[in-house]
Amino acid sequence: MMGTLGGRLDRRTLLKDGSLALLAFGLTGCATRLPAPAMPAVRLRAPVRLAPVRVSRDRVIRATVGLRPHRPSGFVLRADKLDGKTVVHNYGHGGAGMSLSWGTGQMAAELALAHPDRRAAVLGCGVAGLTAARQLQRRGFNVTIYAATVPPDTTSNMSLAGFTPTSGLVAMDRRTPEWEAQFRHAVEIAYRQLQLLAGPKYGISWIYNYSPTDDANAASGSNVLLPETVRTGSVLLQKGEHPFTTRYAVERPELRIEPSIYLDALVEDVIAHGGAIRIRKFETPRDLMTLDESLIVNCTGLGAKALFGDSELMPLRGQLIVLMPQEEVNYSTSGGVANSPPGVFVHMMPRRDGIVLGGTSERDIWTTEINEAERTRVIDGHKGLFESMTRP
Ligand SMILES: Cc1cc2nc3c(=O)[nH]c(=O)nc-3n(C[C@H](O)[C@H](O)[C@H](O)COP(=O)(O)OP(=O)(O)OC[C@H]3O[C@@H](n4cnc5c(N)ncnc54)[C@H](O)[C@@H]3O)c2cc1C
Repeated sequence: MMGTLGGRLDRRTLLKDGSLALLAFGLTGCATRLPAPAMPAVRLRAPVRLAPVRVSRDRVIRATVGLRPHRPSGFVLRADKLDGKTVVHNYGHGGAGMSLSWGTGQMAAELALAHPDRRAAVLGCGVAGLTAARQLQRRGFNVTIYAATVPPDTTSNMSLAGFTPTSGLVAMDRRTPEWEAQFRHAVEIAYRQLQLLAGPKYGISWIYNYSPTDDANAASGSNVLLPETVRTGSVLLQKGEHPFTTRYAVERPELRIEPSIYLDALVEDVIAHGGAIRIRKFETPRDLMTLDESLIVNCTGLGAKALFGDSELMPLRGQLIVLMPQEEVNYSTSGGVANSPPGVFVHMMPRRDGIVLGGTSERDIWTTEINEAERTRVIDGHKGLFESMTRP
C-alpha cells in the first residue's frame, strides 16, 4: 500500500514497498515465469499548474536601469562626528536594500537615540531613507527628509523587488564576524516587519517562486549568511510535478514588494506622522553644516560616494524589462534561462504595474542607458523558458 503525506509522496513507504516487490521478483524470476508483480505506481504531487508568461518584444511596456549601491565589504552602519554634528551612516545596501532597510533603519535609529537631540535630518528619500525616517518617528524623533530626488525617481523604484537580503551586498571574502552579526540582526527585523505590512496598502504579498534546476540538492539552502527562519519552506519538485524541462524545480514562498505602491505608502506614512520632505542636493559635507538639525542620518545610497568620499562604493548596474501585466501569472521564477553569465540570476516577477524580467548586474558601470545586448539576452532567455513549459 502506498502512503502519502499531506498529498505528497511518502518516499520511505515507496522504498519499502518497491524494494520488497523487486526482491520477490528476483528470488523467483529464474525458476518459474510468474505473472509480473503489480508494482506500486509512483504517485507524485499533483503537477503545479502555471500559466506561461507571454514574452515578445511587442509586449514590452518599458525598460528601466538602476544603479545598485554596492560596497564589497557590505553596507555601512555607524555613527561619526562631523564638526558639531552627529552623522549616522546607513547606506551601501547593494541589491538588497528593499529587503534589508527596515532592519538597518531600526539599527540606525537606535544609534541616533544616543544623541540628545530629538530632531533628525534624514538624507535620502529612497527605501533606506524612508524606512529610517519611520523607525526614528517610532522612537519619538521629529524628522525632515532632505533629498535630491524622491519617488518615483530613486534607485529604489527601479528594483525588482523580491526579498533577496544577500543579493549584490558583500564580497564573501570581505565580510567580518561583526558585519555578519549586524547583517543577521537586520535580516530578522526586516523579514518580520515586511511580513506585518503584507496587504494592498503597501503592495507587499506572498508568492510562490520556482527555480528550474537539474541539481537534486538545490532546495537544501546553502546561503550560510541567512538566519534559519528565512531559509525555511523550500520544496524540491520532481519531474512530473512541475512544468519545466529540467529534472527538478525548487518551490519556495517569497515576499514580493511592489516598489511604486510601497514607496508612495512610506512617503504618506512619513508625512502622516509629522515628517516633512525637502528637495535639496548636498554637494559637500560642508553643505550639511547649514542644516538646523545636529543629528543627521545618511541614507544617500550611491550618492555617499561623492558626498562622503567613500571610495569603496560602486554601482552594480541593473536593467529591468517590463511586459504587459497578465493577471493569470501568479508566481515568480528564478533561473532556468540559458546563456546567463555566471553569478547572475535571472528573475521574473509579476506585479500590478507589469511583468518584470531582470537578470543583469554590470559592475562599476555608471551609465543609465539601455544595454541592447542585455535586453535581448533577458527577453530571449525568458521566451525560451516560458515557451518550453508544459501548458496547464
Ligand atoms: C534592477 C534592480 C533590481 C533590484 N532588485 C532588488 C531586489 O529584488 N530586492 C532588494 O532587496 N533590492 C533590490 N535592488 C536593490 C535596491 O533597489 C537598492 O538596494 C535600494 O534601492 C537602495 O536604496 P537607497 O535608499 O539606499 O538608495 P536610493 O533609492 O538610490 O535613494 C538614495 C536617495 O538619496 C538621495 N541622494 C543621493 N545623494 C544625494 C545628495 N548628494 N544630496 C541629496 N540627496 C541625495 C537620492 O536623491 C535619493 O533620494 C535592486 C536594484 C536594481 C537596480
